[in-house]
Amino acid sequence: MERLNRRHILAGIGAGLAVSAAGAARAQAGGHKLGYAIVGLGSYATKQIMPRFVECEHSQLVALVSGTPAKLTRYAAEYNIPAANCYSYADFDRIRDNPAIDIVYIVLPNSMHAEYSIRAARAGKHVMCEKPMAVSVAECQAMIAASRGAGRKLMIGYRSRFEPYNKLAIQLARGGHVGPTQLITAEHGFNAQPNQWRLDRALSGGGSMMDIGIYSLNAARYLTGEEPLTVTAVETTDRTDPRFRTVEDRIDFTLKFPSGVIANCLSSYSSGHNSYHVIGTEGYIDMEPATSYEGHRMTIRRDGKTEPRVLPKPAKSQFAGQLDHLSECVLADRQPIVAGEEGLADLRVIEAIYQSMREGRTVRLDRA
Ligand code: NAD
Repeated sequence: MERLNRRHILAGIGAGLAVSAAGAARAQAGGHKLGYAIVGLGSYATKQIMPRFVECEHSQLVALVSGTPAKLTRYAAEYNIPAANCYSYADFDRIRDNPAIDIVYIVLPNSMHAEYSIRAARAGKHVMCEKPMAVSVAECQAMIAASRGAGRKLMIGYRSRFEPYNKLAIQLARGGHVGPTQLITAEHGFNAQPNQWRLDRALSGGGSMMDIGIYSLNAARYLTGEEPLTVTAVETTDRTDPRFRTVEDRIDFTLKFPSGVIANCLSSYSSGHNSYHVIGTEGYIDMEPATSYEGHRMTIRRDGKTEPRVLPKPAKSQFAGQLDHLSECVLADRQPIVAGEEGLADLRVIEAIYQSMREGRTVRLDRA
């Protein structure tokens, strides 16, 4: 980041404003889709995101960024991307000169999110960044400032917000369908395989909490629509397990919200979980799996009856919904529903969770 000087930044902003205005005008003129560049051709990008562009109405894949030439060759051939739209990390900043790229999607290890999001904004591009937004509150704030300074959108890859069962759960929970919410439990975890960047704090910024526990936290926040007042967290990590030399395994954390709702949450790298339960005065909403890629299941108990709720398969997957949402926000000049501020809000709580487990006490968030 330090390598970028002021002249460089201003030149990028100027070029980017012209480029993106042109892209939006083309799109509004009819039929044109906004162009995405994918940065980091790893598992999530290549298996979940790139195959979903075919479902999109307003988004198309136009460019690739990778440090591995063989991956660029392979995926450029598969997705019909011209060689001129393939970049290495070293020549990434040249994207500013490419008017086909409107949005840059960062799918790199967590500690690289801030640098590449900021470089993309300074190149005049809108940014979609994977969760966790970054590895600290300070980095999130720098990303928001860079996007604002460049007059560009910044959205975080919280795909569940575009998934029908989660959208319904939010509506039902906040609307009091099972009475006012009293308690939320949210559990997310998996058994982490050894020897990967997720277990190296320098690249991940933390363990299960940054990676998978963030789903429990984010769900507690979107199901209540509130920000927690306090957090109390307890860590359980077997430090003799070679996977957990630098990052945590399990965290149990409790959030207390202004309305009085308590959320008991779990984050784990040594056991499988994917669920949340919203318990109200008149019944409950169960989701398991709750935030998976597919196969969501919802059960509702109300008026003394417990019944599954089955929704029709949506025309567009949550992945395509997420991609198109940012394109639509760019075209209509609207804020994404999961803008940078949403990623920042999660990181604020995550920092408090780490503080609470380190210090063995409840941490207040309303005094920050
Ligand atoms: P991955 O290991 O499969 O891919 C990471 C990519 O980054 C690889 O292509 C790798 O070559 C590249 N890379 C560049 N520099 C690197 C470095 N110094 N060390 C390691 N890799 C480097 O990981 P992934 O599962 O695709 O995760 C990428 C991001 O996507 C993470 O931030 C993760 O949290 C997020 N993710 C989100 C979801 C979701 O459902 N929203 C799911 C999986 C991953």
